[in-house]
Amino acid sequence: MNKVFLLLGANIGDPPSQLAQALQEIQDQVGKVEACSSIYKSEAWGVTEQPTFLNQVVLVSTPLPPISVLDCIQSIENRLGRLRLTKWGARVIDIDILYFNNTNIHHERLIVPHPHLPERRFVLVPLVEIAPAFVHPELGMTTTDLLAQCKDPLIVQPYTQQSDDAIQID
Ligand code: ATP
Ligand code: MG
Ligand code: MG
Repeated sequence: MNKVFLLLGANIGDPPSQLAQALQEIQDQVGKVEACSSIYKSEAWGVTEQPTFLNQVVLVSTPLPPISVLDCIQSIENRLGRLRLTKWGARVIDIDILYFNNTNIHHERLIVPHPHLPERRFVLVPLVEIAPAFVHPELGMTTTDLLAQCKDPLIVQPYTQQSDDAIQID
């Protein structure tokens, strides 16, 4: 079985329910969800003038090869209504492959480890919760080390339903 870490993100529509639906579809189509971080509320990275994101990292064991996992997660994104209007723009769901076993992949459709992983607090904070000692196969650093040296100033905090009204829903 392959071990794949996925990042889920959503910032328009009903983000908590889109994360839940994506998780269910991942379980049905990609493989067994072995671990799941808490949900975090994250300031938008890259294009900052957009609603706050909810993010979650999951570890899945799968018999599928990397490109089949990419096909699966893209079809889940499409089914949940993902539109690609602007780079790093608002979305009902984003599912990215962070790590695939300990492999480095440089394919025209897929780069693994995800190239922006070390510079994104919204990835490292949920990842450190479920995989603090996992070693980045190119950088040779654990998630804990990557988070300690991450210069991303954007705030990432645990999401609770009580803080739901702080999320802007379009
Ligand atoms: P980012 O990848 O910087 O988080 P994004 O998630 O908004 O940006 P998308 O529009 O979801 O980008 O995907 C754009 C393309 O990225 C996809 O068509 C896919 O082929 C490619 N891609 C390359 N590497 C990965 C990866 N590790 N996980 C998911 N998609 C990837
Ligand atoms: Mg992404
Ligand atoms: Mg993506």
